[in-house]
Amino acid sequence: MVCPQCRAQYREGVVVCSDCHVPLMDRLDEDDVDVLLQTGIYNPIAIGLAASLLQEAGIPFFVVDQNPTAQQESGNVFGWWSVRVPKEREAEAREILQNVEDSK
Ligand SMILES: [Zn+2]
Repeated sequence: MVCPQCRAQYREGVVVCSDCHVPLMDRLDEDDVDVLLQTGIYNPIAIGLAASLLQEAGIPFFVVDQNPTAQQESGNVFGWWSVRVPKEREAEAREILQNVEDSK
């Protein structure tokens, strides 16, 4: 098992990274394992809604660091909400996020 965020290796049976608190994956295919979705969502209410919809859909995701330094480094100065999701759930996640954006 491996953490998709910090890439730490864990033995079989461990399901959550003790450092990042994100679900572990069986293996990482490096670039292929998840995709970064940058949304047009930035207000906290919409972010909360999007997060709970992703959870309800059973899509594992983690939020890309939104601290000011990370935002500057990534050029994401508007504070748009960005999440990483598994590649096989990308279409589903995009649809959910699009719905949230449209409902603003
Ligand atoms: Zn980790």
